[in-house]
Amino acid sequence: MIQFFSALKSSVFSLIAFFITLSVVNHFQSYWLVKINLIEQVLYGLFVITILLSSYFNRSRLALAALVFLLFYLNESQVLPWQTWLLSHREWLLLASTGMLSALSVLKDRGLLSTHGIYRVLLLSSIGVASYYWFDIAALLVSQLADVATIAPWLKFITVELPLMVFFLVLVWRCLREKSLAAAALLVSYCLWLGYFYQIIVLPWSVLLSLMMVHYLCVVMIDSYFLAYRDELTSLPSRRALNQRALSLGRKYTVAMLDIDHFKKFNDTYGHDIGDQVLKLVASKLAQVKSAGKVFRYGGEEFTIVFPGKSPEQAQPALEAVRQAVQDYKIVIRQAQRKSKKSRTGKKSEQVKSVSVTISIGYAARAAKLNFEQTLKLADQALYRAKKSGRNNVSD
Ligand code: GH3
Ligand code: MG
Ligand code: MG
Repeated sequence: MIQFFSALKSSVFSLIAFFITLSVVNHFQSYWLVKINLIEQVLYGLFVITILLSSYFNRSRLALAALVFLLFYLNESQVLPWQTWLLSHREWLLLASTGMLSALSVLKDRGLLSTHGIYRVLLLSSIGVASYYWFDIAALLVSQLADVATIAPWLKFITVELPLMVFFLVLVWRCLREKSLAAAALLVSYCLWLGYFYQIIVLPWSVLLSLMMVHYLCVVMIDSYFLAYRDELTSLPSRRALNQRALSLGRKYTVAMLDIDHFKKFNDTYGHDIGDQVLKLVASKLAQVKSAGKVFRYGGEEFTIVFPGKSPEQAQPALEAVRQAVQDYKIVIRQAQRKSKKSRTGKKSEQVKSVSVTISIGYAARAAKLNFEQTLKLADQALYRAKKSGRNNVSD
């Protein structure tokens, strides 16, 4: 259950943030209503920027979603020649666009200007066509099932509500699986579009779309930030983030270098994949230990903890606690059996094992006239001493 909610965290957070923004925007209606013409003009610029930036940063699903909304906006703005036809097919518009959003949530981000991009555009177009014919199919279904007494009262929901529900479930499922802000943005767009369609949200379409595009841009920027400053394997801040943090440190701080003991041997025994699993689990353990220090992945099986404003005497107990926590940590690993014999349950057999590792730690405080790199070097020398004196200990 906890896992379920933590997987939904980014989606729920995005939804709440978005609806708070909506109510704020709603509250200040008198301010922006006089500038609505300007907003409508700016929106075109926002669409272009979102599409270009999203595809540049390889968030092509958001670029395509923005493109879909641009088309529908052009339609609402009565720019397109087939306006009257579309006005009489609003439900098709709703199904087609929400279907496209849920399809985008299932796809991977791939280059927009590539064969993948062409396939994606073709797929979205066929969803448009399929949802057009769905109305005929649904009518046929309804007439066929009209005699079945138990489902007769529900038949009126088959045409629109049923597919909407399916699309919603697909979007939620993708948010749970991916835990990404982009998937959450697609879910938020779905909710917004439905809110607008059923007039639950009574803001002008141009304002809603402006907010949606700003949301997409935020997702692209936040994702790019994480790409640059987070280590992919452990999700800890990376060495680049450490270098950034170093720039804003004061005169007093302590740094520690941590290194997993005999990790090469561990890899040789269990394989690199298990090694990766262990690195990930050790990293999460390091991040859990409350120590007023910030943990970074320095590289390989080495980590750095920075204690801003702390003396070595203050840092030492925290580091000892970290060392102890790693030593006591029984790491459960899952190893697929070499022979992929299927077990009776039909699942691939897995071997569950418990292993443990230890770490050595060296720390140093910044001394007068020393910069961050030099302090880090001192910590590294202390780490060397910790290794020399038998590993699994803390040295200054
Ligand atoms: P000690 O530090 O105790 O002296 O021994 P060690 O074996 O840990 O030291 P060394 O620095 O020689 O080896 C580090 C090993 O860590 C080499 C490599 O196999 C492993 N390693 C580094 N980065 C990764 C990684 O991202 N994933 C995995 N699985 N292993 C890694
Ligand atoms: Mg090492
Ligand atoms: Mg090591």
